[in-house]
Amino acid sequence: MMPHFLDRLDLQVFTDAAFRIPYQQVRGGLFPGLDVWVRRDDLIDPLISGNKAYKLIHNLIEARSQRAETIVTCGGAWSNHIHSVAASGARFGFNTIGIIRGERSPVLSATLRDAERLGMKLIFVTRAQYRRRYESGFIEELGLENQGVYFVPEGGSNLAGVRGTQLLGRVIECTAPVDFDQVWVACGTGATFAGLSSSIQRSSVVGVEVLKAGESVRKSAQHWLAVLGQSSEINKSIQAGVQVPHLLSNERMGCLLGGYHGGGYGKLSAELRELQRMLEDHSGVPIESVYIVKLFNALQKINNSGNISHGERVLIVHSGGLQGRRGYE
Ligand SMILES: *Cc1c(COP(=O)(O)O)cnc(C)c1O
Repeated sequence: MMPHFLDRLDLQVFTDAAFRIPYQQVRGGLFPGLDVWVRRDDLIDPLISGNKAYKLIHNLIEARSQRAETIVTCGGAWSNHIHSVAASGARFGFNTIGIIRGERSPVLSATLRDAERLGMKLIFVTRAQYRRRYESGFIEELGLENQGVYFVPEGGSNLAGVRGTQLLGRVIECTAPVDFDQVWVACGTGATFAGLSSSIQRSSVVGVEVLKAGESVRKSAQHWLAVLGQSSEINKSIQAGVQVPHLLSNERMGCLLGGYHGGGYGKLSAELRELQRMLEDHSGVPIESVYIVKLFNALQKINNSGNISHGERVLIVHSGGLQGRRGYE
């Protein structure tokens, strides 16, 4: 399956591309009793991949309508978001500046090398400085002009970003090949989860926390749901053994599963590597290592512990990020 490039900055072009994203069934007995599918949003664009493309679309359109020349954002050395912003800038004619957490290392990560090649100017700041990235005056302190600049927060997780993931939710409702009981998505900040759970009515949305982030995902998801004027109570369960169908039975809103970070960002156990290999063999779908393999792992654990009803139809959202795999090789 060849990905297509988004060639114009236009909401209709983007929506049409989202409508064409394929769904693939995962066969091969890894999830006995379940009917598991993957929606291949990694294919929305080869460089502006996955949920980051959805989180950027409204931001980019807004930047253009403000006549901003430069997009400034921030992230870590392997950030999918940094990669997507750099590619968007090159594609749609913005200058881009990435404020990167930590010192510049003599050998840049593959992500940052790409970002520079795509024309992004990288500014490395200490971790202490990075923590102040949303404080007023920070941009000026780095010697950057505020004029003509559009700022996107880390991960693209602002209201425009959440609205983009609501678009994804609506597209899923329109294009799902079967009636999914559950839609599963990996959470970093929880913005995508908030967007999906507020836009998908026909299925329950299950978010899996794959980073060691404490309560921050639930808090940020609740924040976004409140901003969107939706009820923001989110069930949260820690670790396998949780009664997913029970949690979900009365509400079509959403639940978060904690405890599936597998050691944290960038950690990949032998068990997870094996699951990644088996999934790729069985489905032919490339499996990303920070988010997606941990999302599948959570589904497998919950299923193996008997906490999901037999016959459930489950959609896994492939939120992209395959460029980051180069960090594991
Ligand atoms: C950023 C990212 C996520 C997490 O998205 P949030 O909206 O921050 O929760 C999930 N999957 C992939 C591949 C990502 O790059």
